[in-house]
Amino acid sequence: MLTLTCPYCGISAEETELHPGGEAHLTRVGPQGTDEEFEGYLFARKNAKGVHFERWRHVYGCGKWFLAARCTATLQVFGTYKAQTPHPPADIVAAIRQARPDWNPDWTTR
Ligand SMILES: [Zn+2]
Repeated sequence: MLTLTCPYCGISAEETELHPGGEAHLTRVGPQGTDEEFEGYLFARKNAKGVHFERWRHVYGCGKWFLAARCTATLQVFGTYKAQTPHPPADIVAAIRQARPDWNPDWTTR
């Protein structure tokens, strides 16, 4: 069972109390983008096995959206943070690097 701590209300909630919102840190495509860029924004997802950044909503709690860093293979949670954060906080990146020394972040490429 996946358990995430909501960064707004501080409650540790089980997966059934949350709603997944897909991949986090997607770069929006504006009106100057090409059709291929817009298609990629709408449909292309990493579906990573390993470290992944996701959006979650605390549906049966405060109702707010937040972001989580976790491993999709082991369900290890590296941390959660507020949805307005443009990049993962340094403490979460450090926790990931400690657990996965060969992890190569690619959030700056999308
Ligand atoms: Zn909450």
